[in-house]
Amino acid sequence: MPKMTRLHHRKPAANWLEVTHQMWKLYMALLGFGTALLCFLSAGLSLLLGTSLFSPLMVIGLVAGGGTFAWFVQSLRCPSCRTSLVWAMIRTRSHMSWLVDLANLATCPSCQVALTQRPSARWRAIY
Ligand SMILES: [Zn+2]
Repeated sequence: MPKMTRLHHRKPAANWLEVTHQMWKLYMALLGFGTALLCFLSAGLSLLLGTSLFSPLMVIGLVAGGGTFAWFVQSLRCPSCRTSLVWAMIRTRSHMSWLVDLANLATCPSCQVALTQRPSARWRAIY
């Protein structure tokens, strides 16, 4: 087996979410979806234990999940053409891979601008 040398090692390109300063939106969405999941699991547990918290936990979970989804779709956009990249990926990719494909985007699927290059001063003004 050939030994890996430094020549074969390439530094990975910067992620577009980091370059466009939108990584926090992905973390917030994961927090919101995690909260919703926790509410649903707690609601199921309360049903098993016979407590009266099932309905409030389900409502909180639905609001947290739905609100997070709506916010995530609206907030994560191409810095150049303002296309909602979450919605673009949901519409065009498999339900199994859209989130991974979204995180690994190199160009905007709408305007084809390179997302991984350093943003211009105009982009910084937007975000
Ligand atoms: Zn675009």
